[in-house]
Amino acid sequence: MEKLLFRSTNHQAPLASFREVLLRGQAPDYGLYVPVSFPVLTPEEMASFSSASYANIATVVLRKFLQGEMEEQVLEKIAGESYNFDVPLIEVENGLYLLRLDRGPTASFKDFAARMMARLMHYFAARENRRLTVLVATSGDTGGAVAAAFYGLENVSVVVLFPEQEVTSRQRRQMTTLGRNILAVAVRGKFDDCQALVKQAFNDPKLAGLNLTSANSINFGRLLPQAVYYFYAWSRVAGDGVVFSVPSGNFGNLCGGVLARKMGLPVRRFVVAVNENDEFPRFLKTGHYQPVVPSRQCSSNAMNVGHPSNLARLVDWYGGWLTDERDEQGRVLRQGCLKKPPDMEKMRADFLSFSISEAEVDETITSVYRRYGLVLEPHGAVAFRAAQKADLSGPLVVLETADPAKFPEKIRALLGLDPPLPPALLGLEDRPEVYETIPAEYSRLVSLLQRFSSP
Ligand SMILES: *Cc1c(COP(=O)(O)O)cnc(C)c1O
Repeated sequence: MEKLLFRSTNHQAPLASFREVLLRGQAPDYGLYVPVSFPVLTPEEMASFSSASYANIATVVLRKFLQGEMEEQVLEKIAGESYNFDVPLIEVENGLYLLRLDRGPTASFKDFAARMMARLMHYFAARENRRLTVLVATSGDTGGAVAAAFYGLENVSVVVLFPEQEVTSRQRRQMTTLGRNILAVAVRGKFDDCQALVKQAFNDPKLAGLNLTSANSINFGRLLPQAVYYFYAWSRVAGDGVVFSVPSGNFGNLCGGVLARKMGLPVRRFVVAVNENDEFPRFLKTGHYQPVVPSRQCSSNAMNVGHPSNLARLVDWYGGWLTDERDEQGRVLRQGCLKKPPDMEKMRADFLSFSISEAEVDETITSVYRRYGLVLEPHGAVAFRAAQKADLSGPLVVLETADPAKFPEKIRALLGLDPPLPPALLGLEDRPEVYETIPAEYSRLVSLLQRFSSP
């Protein structure tokens, strides 16, 4: 079988294979990798989904991209290990569904991408007898999901940097109570400092021997597994022309859906639900792109993104070119320059986008509980409210991306109840924490990386 190849959205990087794309993350020209062409599922493959397990559907979707890279039996085994938890699809009322993507080991939808990506990286590292070091900066949930996904996998170490004062104690414990191949590092600084340290490390030739790789949402290996739950939901809700409402931050989730559509899934429309960071609905309306700087702080904190990193991919897929302007050292001078506009008419036909205020989030959590007895958390509430505003005829699937128990104060204040802790979050308080603390200085990160990565 011919291998599928990938190009960069910045048009200046050589074509790459899936393996290279997965291990490299970002393209060398700072662009995002996208497939040169999109494989399409056959009608027989699509028809088989209604009686297939989640893991089976994942195998069929992913093998389109992994042909020539991995044997199907290996992929099947990896999919079975990655997706060993429930994916409930609740019919809220006639034609309106809630897809709960919060049942994984860290109670966040990031588990779907992280668990598959971890196993794919582990497979390629082991096959080549290489050791990899995954370096990731987190403002909260990504760190826990990535750490849990890689925990115990040989040949791969994970170093996760988090801002000492900016994560909740529960989020910190999800990273610091694992140990083994996971090193948690508290940085005395802000999330932006963590991200800057990580970027500097990726561009440092002195660290080439460590095989550093990234697990953030620009990696196509994190995007691809997110196409699968769109196929899964479609196979369970009778009827074509399904609409999805997607709570969006960095737009990885949405790009997973658009990828599914390009692979043949009959999606009528996407409702792009954002919080008060409203750059996308404004862009859709006006055709002018202007990031929200600094990003606005909302209760749906994983969506507090004023310049979504995956937007470059989406714009590329609609024939445009969005990129950051950089100097010769690669430092960003200006974010989000639209060098070529995408086909706005086509985008408007495929996407409806709404910015949901904090007051609307609270109102939605309350009214959905009163009306349906269903407890939403802020990210899911943004998507639910946007779906109501879109007012499209069904079937309509709203994605719920986190467990309400991650927002106990908000739920208690609005509904007067304590959402039960899922198994994923039980017992965290009792486990010992181990982590290093460093100032936001690059030399300190380098010595730590060198010590941890060479056992
Ligand atoms: C990351 C995250 C999102 C946003 O997903 P993107 O792929 O960044 O758009 C939404 N909800 C939760 C709970 C998240 O953790």
